[in-house]
Amino acid sequence: MNSIPSPTAIDADHLAGAPLVLARKVEKQFGTLKVLKGIDLAISTGEVLCIIGPSGSGKSTFLRCINQLERIDGGALFVSGERVGYHRVGNKLYELDDKAIARQRRSIGMVFQRFNLFPHLTALQNVIEGPVQVLKESKADARAHALSLLERVGLADKRDAYPSQLSGGQQQRVAIARSLAMRPELLLFDEPTSALDPELVAEVLRVMRGLAETGMTMVCVTHELGFARDVGHRVAFMDQGQIVEIGDPRSVLSDPKEVRTRAFISAVR
Ligand code: ADP
Ligand code: MG
Repeated sequence: MNSIPSPTAIDADHLAGAPLVLARKVEKQFGTLKVLKGIDLAISTGEVLCIIGPSGSGKSTFLRCINQLERIDGGALFVSGERVGYHRVGNKLYELDDKAIARQRRSIGMVFQRFNLFPHLTALQNVIEGPVQVLKESKADARAHALSLLERVGLADKRDAYPSQLSGGQQQRVAIARSLAMRPELLLFDEPTSALDPELVAEVLRVMRGLAETGMTMVCVTHELGFARDVGHRVAFMDQGQIVEIGDPRSVLSDPKEVRTRAFISAVR
Protein backbone atom coordinates (compact mmCIF):
# COMPACT_ATOMS: atom_id res chain seq x y z
CA MET A 1 0.00 0.00 0.00
CA ASN A 2 1.28 3.46 -0.83
CA SER A 3 1.16 6.10 1.81
CA ILE A 4 -0.03 9.46 0.58
CA PRO A 5 0.35 12.84 2.24
CA SER A 6 -1.23 13.09 5.66
CA PRO A 7 -4.96 13.66 6.00
CA THR A 8 -5.90 17.25 6.31
CA ALA A 9 -8.49 19.20 8.19
CA ILE A 10 -11.01 17.66 5.82
CA ASP A 11 -11.04 14.40 7.79
CA ALA A 12 -11.49 16.07 11.14
CA ASP A 13 -14.30 18.23 9.77
CA HIS A 14 -16.04 15.24 8.44
CA LEU A 15 -15.95 13.26 11.64
CA ALA A 16 -17.52 16.21 13.43
CA GLY A 17 -20.31 16.84 10.95
CA ALA A 18 -21.03 13.37 9.59
CA PRO A 19 -23.11 13.80 6.47
CA LEU A 20 -23.53 10.52 4.64
CA VAL A 21 -21.71 11.83 1.58
CA LEU A 22 -19.17 14.60 1.65
CA ALA A 23 -17.39 15.89 -1.42
CA ARG A 24 -14.60 18.40 -0.97
CA LYS A 25 -13.17 20.08 -4.08
CA VAL A 26 -13.56 16.85 -6.04
CA GLU A 27 -11.75 16.88 -9.36
CA LYS A 28 -11.70 14.38 -12.16
CA GLN A 29 -10.19 14.53 -15.60
CA PHE A 30 -9.98 12.21 -18.55
CA GLY A 31 -6.70 12.96 -20.32
CA THR A 32 -6.68 16.71 -20.64
CA LEU A 33 -10.45 17.05 -20.33
CA LYS A 34 -11.42 18.34 -16.89
CA VAL A 35 -14.80 16.79 -16.16
CA LEU A 36 -15.25 17.64 -12.47
CA LYS A 37 -13.83 20.99 -11.44
CA GLY A 38 -14.05 21.14 -7.68
CA ILE A 39 -17.33 19.68 -6.49
CA ASP A 40 -18.25 20.64 -2.91
CA LEU A 41 -21.30 18.93 -1.53
CA ALA A 42 -22.65 17.40 1.67
CA ILE A 43 -25.58 15.00 1.62
CA SER A 44 -27.34 14.11 4.86
CA THR A 45 -28.69 10.71 5.80
CA GLY A 46 -32.24 10.41 4.51
CA GLU A 47 -31.82 13.19 2.00
CA VAL A 48 -32.98 12.93 -1.61
CA LEU A 49 -30.77 15.04 -3.84
CA CYS A 50 -31.71 15.41 -7.49
CA ILE A 51 -29.01 16.43 -9.95
CA ILE A 52 -29.99 18.03 -13.21
CA GLY A 53 -27.86 19.50 -15.96
CA PRO A 54 -26.97 19.26 -19.63
CA SER A 55 -25.41 16.22 -21.23
CA GLY A 56 -21.67 16.11 -20.69
CA SER A 57 -21.73 18.25 -17.53
CA GLY A 58 -20.20 15.47 -15.41
CA LYS A 59 -23.28 14.10 -13.61
CA SER A 60 -22.57 10.43 -14.34
CA THR A 61 -18.90 10.87 -13.63
CA PHE A 62 -19.70 12.33 -10.22
CA LEU A 63 -21.93 9.36 -9.33
CA ARG A 64 -19.29 6.98 -10.63
CA CYS A 65 -16.68 8.64 -8.40
CA ILE A 66 -18.92 8.26 -5.33
CA ASN A 67 -19.26 4.59 -6.20
CA GLN A 68 -15.55 4.17 -7.05
CA LEU A 69 -16.19 3.19 -10.62
CA GLU A 70 -13.87 6.12 -11.29
CA ARG A 71 -11.02 7.43 -9.20
CA ILE A 72 -10.86 11.11 -8.35
CA ASP A 73 -7.78 13.16 -9.23
CA GLY A 74 -8.13 15.85 -6.60
CA GLY A 75 -10.03 16.72 -3.45
CA ALA A 76 -11.65 14.11 -1.24
CA LEU A 77 -14.81 12.09 -1.01
CA PHE A 78 -16.28 10.52 2.11
CA VAL A 79 -19.15 8.07 2.39
CA SER A 80 -20.45 7.01 5.80
CA GLY A 81 -17.49 8.62 7.51
CA GLU A 82 -14.91 6.72 5.48
CA ARG A 83 -12.67 8.32 2.95
CA VAL A 84 -13.48 6.74 -0.38
CA GLY A 85 -10.56 4.65 -1.63
CA TYR A 86 -8.43 5.14 1.47
CA HIS A 87 -7.85 3.70 4.87
CA ARG A 88 -6.57 5.74 7.75
CA VAL A 89 -4.08 4.56 10.31
CA GLY A 90 -3.09 7.19 12.86
CA ASN A 91 -2.51 10.28 10.79
CA LYS A 92 -1.54 8.47 7.59
CA LEU A 93 -3.75 7.53 4.68
CA TYR A 94 -3.22 4.34 2.72
CA GLU A 95 -4.79 3.42 -0.58
CA LEU A 96 -7.24 0.57 -0.28
CA ASP A 97 -6.69 -2.66 -2.14
CA ASP A 98 -9.35 -4.09 -4.45
CA LYS A 99 -10.93 -6.19 -1.75
CA ALA A 100 -11.27 -3.27 0.63
CA ILE A 101 -12.64 -1.10 -2.17
CA ALA A 102 -15.24 -3.77 -2.88
CA ARG A 103 -16.23 -3.69 0.79
CA GLN A 104 -16.59 0.12 0.74
CA ARG A 105 -18.66 -0.04 -2.43
CA ARG A 106 -21.03 -2.56 -0.90
CA SER A 107 -22.90 0.11 1.07
CA ILE A 108 -23.78 1.90 -2.16
CA GLY A 109 -26.37 0.79 -4.68
CA MET A 110 -26.50 2.12 -8.21
CA VAL A 111 -29.30 2.01 -10.72
CA PHE A 112 -28.35 2.80 -14.30
CA GLN A 113 -30.22 3.98 -17.34
CA ARG A 114 -29.84 0.45 -18.76
CA PHE A 115 -31.09 -2.12 -16.31
CA ASN A 116 -28.21 -4.61 -16.68
CA LEU A 117 -30.13 -7.56 -15.29
CA PHE A 118 -28.65 -11.02 -15.78
CA PRO A 119 -30.62 -12.26 -18.81
CA HIS A 120 -30.36 -15.95 -17.89
CA LEU A 121 -31.79 -15.45 -14.39
CA THR A 122 -35.40 -14.86 -13.37
CA ALA A 123 -36.46 -11.69 -11.58
CA LEU A 124 -36.24 -13.50 -8.25
CA GLN A 125 -32.85 -15.04 -9.04
CA ASN A 126 -31.53 -11.64 -10.11
CA VAL A 127 -32.45 -10.21 -6.71
CA ILE A 128 -31.07 -13.19 -4.74
CA GLU A 129 -27.73 -13.40 -6.56
CA GLY A 130 -25.82 -10.57 -4.82
CA PRO A 131 -26.88 -11.31 -1.25
CA VAL A 132 -25.97 -14.99 -1.63
CA GLN A 133 -22.73 -14.54 -3.60
CA VAL A 134 -21.41 -11.36 -2.05
CA LEU A 135 -23.04 -10.98 1.36
CA LYS A 136 -23.03 -14.76 1.96
CA GLU A 137 -26.65 -14.72 3.11
CA SER A 138 -28.37 -18.08 3.28
CA LYS A 139 -30.50 -18.89 0.24
CA ALA A 140 -33.61 -18.99 2.41
CA ASP A 141 -32.97 -15.56 3.93
CA ALA A 142 -32.04 -14.04 0.57
CA ARG A 143 -35.15 -15.51 -1.01
CA ALA A 144 -37.48 -14.21 1.71
CA HIS A 145 -35.92 -10.76 1.48
CA ALA A 146 -36.06 -10.81 -2.33
CA LEU A 147 -39.73 -11.73 -2.32
CA SER A 148 -40.54 -8.85 0.01
CA LEU A 149 -38.56 -6.48 -2.23
CA LEU A 150 -40.30 -7.68 -5.38
CA GLU A 151 -43.57 -7.09 -3.56
CA ARG A 152 -42.41 -3.60 -2.66
CA VAL A 153 -41.67 -2.73 -6.29
CA GLY A 154 -45.01 -4.24 -7.35
CA LEU A 155 -43.61 -7.32 -9.09
CA ALA A 156 -44.38 -10.21 -6.77
CA ASP A 157 -46.31 -11.89 -9.61
CA LYS A 158 -43.33 -11.59 -12.00
CA ARG A 159 -40.80 -13.34 -9.81
CA ASP A 160 -40.31 -16.24 -12.22
CA ALA A 161 -40.17 -14.12 -15.38
CA TYR A 162 -36.91 -13.63 -17.25
CA PRO A 163 -35.81 -10.08 -18.15
CA SER A 164 -36.75 -10.62 -21.81
CA GLN A 165 -40.32 -11.28 -20.67
CA LEU A 166 -40.54 -7.98 -18.78
CA SER A 167 -41.17 -4.44 -19.97
CA GLY A 168 -38.43 -1.86 -19.53
CA GLY A 169 -40.26 -0.38 -16.54
CA GLN A 170 -40.57 -3.79 -14.93
CA GLN A 171 -36.90 -4.55 -15.57
CA GLN A 172 -35.93 -1.28 -13.98
CA ARG A 173 -38.05 -2.08 -10.94
CA VAL A 174 -36.31 -5.46 -10.65
CA ALA A 175 -33.00 -3.60 -10.89
CA ILE A 176 -34.09 -1.37 -8.00
CA ALA A 177 -35.12 -4.43 -5.95
CA ARG A 178 -31.75 -6.00 -6.75
CA SER A 179 -29.93 -2.91 -5.45
CA LEU A 180 -32.05 -2.87 -2.29
CA ALA A 181 -31.28 -6.54 -1.65
CA MET A 182 -27.70 -5.48 -0.87
CA ARG A 183 -29.06 -3.32 1.98
CA PRO A 184 -27.36 -0.15 0.75
CA GLU A 185 -26.99 2.95 2.87
CA LEU A 186 -27.02 5.08 -0.24
CA LEU A 187 -28.70 4.64 -3.61
CA LEU A 188 -27.44 6.37 -6.73
CA PHE A 189 -29.73 6.67 -9.74
CA ASP A 190 -28.29 7.64 -13.10
CA GLU A 191 -31.17 8.67 -15.36
CA PRO A 192 -33.17 5.58 -14.40
CA THR A 193 -36.11 6.48 -16.64
CA SER A 194 -34.28 7.89 -19.67
CA ALA A 195 -34.31 4.62 -21.61
CA LEU A 196 -37.99 3.94 -20.97
CA ASP A 197 -40.99 4.49 -23.16
CA PRO A 198 -42.95 7.45 -21.79
CA GLU A 199 -45.82 5.35 -20.47
CA LEU A 200 -43.41 3.30 -18.32
CA VAL A 201 -41.70 6.22 -16.62
CA ALA A 202 -44.35 6.80 -13.94
CA GLU A 203 -44.20 3.28 -12.48
CA VAL A 204 -40.46 3.60 -11.89
CA LEU A 205 -40.78 7.09 -10.43
CA ARG A 206 -43.51 5.79 -8.12
CA VAL A 207 -41.15 3.15 -6.73
CA MET A 208 -38.43 5.77 -6.27
CA ARG A 209 -40.86 8.05 -4.47
CA GLY A 210 -41.85 5.16 -2.17
CA LEU A 211 -38.18 4.58 -1.37
CA ALA A 212 -37.66 8.24 -0.60
CA GLU A 213 -40.57 8.06 1.82
CA THR A 214 -38.87 5.24 3.73
CA GLY A 215 -35.95 7.57 4.40
CA MET A 216 -33.49 6.06 1.93
CA THR A 217 -30.65 8.42 1.08
CA MET A 218 -30.78 8.93 -2.67
CA VAL A 219 -28.85 10.85 -5.30
CA CYS A 220 -30.90 10.94 -8.49
CA VAL A 221 -29.61 12.25 -11.78
CA THR A 222 -32.80 12.87 -13.70
CA HIS A 223 -34.48 14.98 -16.31
CA GLU A 224 -37.84 14.44 -14.60
CA LEU A 225 -38.25 17.92 -13.19
CA GLY A 226 -41.65 17.07 -11.70
CA PHE A 227 -40.07 14.26 -9.71
CA ALA A 228 -37.20 16.53 -8.65
CA ARG A 229 -39.67 19.15 -7.45
CA ASP A 230 -42.00 16.79 -5.59
CA VAL A 231 -39.57 14.24 -4.16
CA GLY A 232 -36.19 15.97 -3.98
CA HIS A 233 -35.20 17.68 -0.76
CA ARG A 234 -32.69 19.65 -2.78
CA VAL A 235 -31.91 20.05 -6.45
CA ALA A 236 -28.43 20.67 -7.80
CA PHE A 237 -27.84 22.07 -11.26
CA MET A 238 -24.53 20.97 -12.77
CA ASP A 239 -22.85 22.51 -15.77
CA GLN A 240 -19.33 22.07 -17.13
CA GLY A 241 -18.10 20.09 -14.17
CA GLN A 242 -19.40 22.38 -11.47
CA ILE A 243 -22.45 22.69 -9.25
CA VAL A 244 -23.74 26.00 -10.48
CA GLU A 245 -26.75 26.20 -8.20
CA ILE A 246 -28.15 24.07 -5.39
CA GLY A 247 -31.08 24.49 -3.06
CA ASP A 248 -34.72 23.97 -2.37
CA PRO A 249 -36.37 22.39 -5.45
CA ARG A 250 -38.96 25.08 -5.75
CA SER A 251 -36.45 27.90 -5.82
CA VAL A 252 -33.98 26.14 -8.13
CA LEU A 253 -36.65 24.94 -10.56
CA SER A 254 -39.16 27.78 -10.42
CA ASP A 255 -36.99 30.74 -9.60
CA PRO A 256 -33.39 29.92 -10.52
CA LYS A 257 -30.79 32.51 -9.59
CA GLU A 258 -28.28 31.59 -12.28
CA VAL A 259 -28.69 32.34 -15.97
CA ARG A 260 -27.39 28.90 -16.96
CA THR A 261 -29.92 27.15 -14.71
CA ARG A 262 -32.75 29.21 -16.14
CA ALA A 263 -31.71 28.45 -19.72
CA PHE A 264 -31.46 24.72 -19.01
CA ILE A 265 -34.83 24.52 -17.29
CA SER A 266 -36.65 26.35 -20.01
CA ALA A 267 -35.04 24.07 -22.62
CA VAL A 268 -36.05 20.88 -20.77
CA ARG A 269 -39.63 21.97 -20.08
P1 ADP B 1 -23.25 13.61 -18.03
O1 ADP B 1 -23.59 12.38 -17.24
O2 ADP B 1 -23.56 14.88 -17.30
O3 ADP B 1 -23.86 13.60 -19.40
P2 ADP B 1 -20.59 12.49 -18.08
O4 ADP B 1 -20.14 12.47 -16.66
O5 ADP B 1 -21.05 11.22 -18.67
O6 ADP B 1 -21.68 13.64 -18.25
O7 ADP B 1 -19.42 13.02 -18.99
C1 ADP B 1 -18.74 14.24 -18.75
C2 ADP B 1 -17.65 14.39 -19.78
O8 ADP B 1 -16.65 13.40 -19.56
C3 ADP B 1 -18.11 14.22 -21.22
O9 ADP B 1 -17.41 15.12 -22.01
C4 ADP B 1 -17.71 12.80 -21.52
O10 ADP B 1 -17.48 12.62 -22.89
C5 ADP B 1 -16.44 12.65 -20.73
N1 ADP B 1 -16.18 11.26 -20.30
C6 ADP B 1 -16.96 10.53 -19.49
N2 ADP B 1 -16.43 9.32 -19.26
C7 ADP B 1 -15.26 9.28 -19.95
C8 ADP B 1 -14.22 8.30 -20.12
N3 ADP B 1 -14.28 7.12 -19.51
N4 ADP B 1 -13.18 8.62 -20.90
C9 ADP B 1 -13.11 9.84 -21.49
N5 ADP B 1 -14.04 10.81 -21.38
C10 ADP B 1 -15.11 10.54 -20.62
MG1 MG C 1 -24.85 10.81 -17.71
